[in-house]
Amino acid sequence: MRSRTVAVVGGGCAGVLATRELLRCSDDRVVLIEPDEPGGGLAYGSARPWHLLNSRAGAMSADPDDPADFARWAGVAPSSFAPRTVYGSYLRDVFARTAAAYGDRLSVVRDRAQRVDPGLIYTEKSGHIAVDEIVVATGNPGAAQPAALDGHPDYLADPWRPGALEAIPSDAPVLLVGAGLTAVDVVLTLTADGNRDAPITAVSRRGQLPLTHTDQAAPPSDLSLDEPGTLRDLVRRVRRAAADTGDWRAVVDGLRPSIDRLWGNLTPAEQDAFLRHLARPWECHRHRMAPSVGARVATLREEGRLEVRAGGIRSMTAPPAGGLLVELEAGVQWFGAVVNCAGPGRLPAAAGSFVRSLLDDGHARLGPHGLGLDIDAGGRLVGADGRARDNLWLIGPLRRGARWETTAVPEIRTQARALIDRAK
Ligand SMILES: Cc1cc2nc3c(=O)[nH]c(=O)nc-3n(C[C@H](O)[C@H](O)[C@H](O)COP(=O)(O)OP(=O)(O)OC[C@H]3O[C@@H](n4cnc5c(N)ncnc54)[C@H](O)[C@@H]3O)c2cc1C
Repeated sequence: MRSRTVAVVGGGCAGVLATRELLRCSDDRVVLIEPDEPGGGLAYGSARPWHLLNSRAGAMSADPDDPADFARWAGVAPSSFAPRTVYGSYLRDVFARTAAAYGDRLSVVRDRAQRVDPGLIYTEKSGHIAVDEIVVATGNPGAAQPAALDGHPDYLADPWRPGALEAIPSDAPVLLVGAGLTAVDVVLTLTADGNRDAPITAVSRRGQLPLTHTDQAAPPSDLSLDEPGTLRDLVRRVRRAAADTGDWRAVVDGLRPSIDRLWGNLTPAEQDAFLRHLARPWECHRHRMAPSVGARVATLREEGRLEVRAGGIRSMTAPPAGGLLVELEAGVQWFGAVVNCAGPGRLPAAAGSFVRSLLDDGHARLGPHGLGLDIDAGGRLVGADGRARDNLWLIGPLRRGARWETTAVPEIRTQARALIDRAK
């Protein structure tokens, strides 16, 4: 078989892992299209030194055949929580080693893909590139905007924009819209230099922060959830297992390999009910803070420097003197800055321009609930006509909806490896 040219669109975590697998395990040539340095991306490219991984180092290897690779590379214990900046350096090193070993079959195009035609991919600056296949690895949809006041200087729609948080005066009270891991990252940055004397308030529908890992992980519980059942049955069984074992973390970790199957077995109405009522509590239990981060957040709350409230934002107005007046459940309050920490939004509204073009041109269609794009069992994009596209593959967070567990490194490296088994 002749070797193919595969374009990998996006050089974040998923794009780097896909590039590595394709070059190492096949004869394919790879054209990696990424505007920034490969190995950055949202999670690892914009992290600050105080942002830790929320997974243990032993879970973060880039190599599906060598689970200890990252912990060994970083010189840390597999049970520890390394800084995300270190993980970013690791990914860049993985990419550099891949480029050194297989450079004759790799080209990197520092550009942004715009759209695709059969056999062609168009980029912003480089015109078009002829390719046989395309792997879409462009990361999460854009952020949800639950309380946007577009364009107002004191409303930060994107907390990851370099320098945005540092520009907030330390005597300005800050409102965070959302209380998940993004909000925790923002709290750590706002309080990193110890000079902040104004309080931070985080507001979310349930007022629930992520829970915390223990220092040492208990072995995952082996739950047999093979009998079919409703969402209600499933929740009951999981709650009972957590009560019986006395360790909900082991139960949550034990469920992970079955999550996609369980999600896929739910009816659309059950999936919808899960998203409305259970997804947030599930995420709080599943995506946990490192112990030292949890301790820091607890201290900030005890000291009254961080308050977490349940409820919504009823209105937000901009007084002439600056800042924002926000109507919360408890009344109207003034904040010097409001930071959107709501996490990824739904498609099509939250689609970046490349994903939007895939949808507009019929190469892709929305996946369940607009959480991502639709794929077939092998990871090919399903087009507007309902047929899987032979030459278009999707990996990473945009599989959400068609799958559930698809955003973390262990799942992404498995998806990257599966690309080499794709139909010849
Ligand atoms: C804050 C945070 C912390 C996380 N912590 C952990 C953790 O501890 N453990 C864990 O397992 N997982 C963690 N994750 C999840 C996971 O690792 C990330 O979701 C993962 O980085 C996704 O990789 P990706 O390549 O799909 O997306 P990204 O890393 O975001 O990369 C997408 C890339 O695509 C590029 N791109 C976008 N559009 C185009 C275009 N049109 N043309 C060319 N390039 C384009 C972007 O420039 C970017 O580099 C975390 C996620 C976040 C957000």
